[in-house]
Amino acid sequence: MEFKILTKFKNQLAGIKKEIEKKVKSLYKTPDFGDEVDSDEETSETAEFDKQLSIAQTYKERLIKVDSALNKIEKGKYGVCEKCGAEISSDVLKVVPESKLCKNCKKKK
Ligand SMILES: [Zn+2]
Repeated sequence: MEFKILTKFKNQLAGIKKEIEKKVKSLYKTPDFGDEVDSDEETSETAEFDKQLSIAQTYKERLIKVDSALNKIEKGKYGVCEKCGAEISSDVLKVVPESKLCKNCKKKK
């Protein structure tokens, strides 16, 4: 892959990483239950917090993928399918820069 393109993806991934970290941070903020809420309201807020945690989990999983993609860029192995070793088309990488699989392998999954 051309250095110029690689740098572009690297910047994109770094941006995604920052964005996700920010989102996770805000999701983990414990909601302010307040002192005078009735119990029904409290229950729904707890459920809301649970939902936020599960969203945070999804973000964290993506963060791991983004990190591993950044790592691959460092090692010069970025954009190579982990399954078949083919080059992942830049069309795929443009949409999901942390992709680990090429179009064909993704289809099979
Ligand atoms: Zn493949």
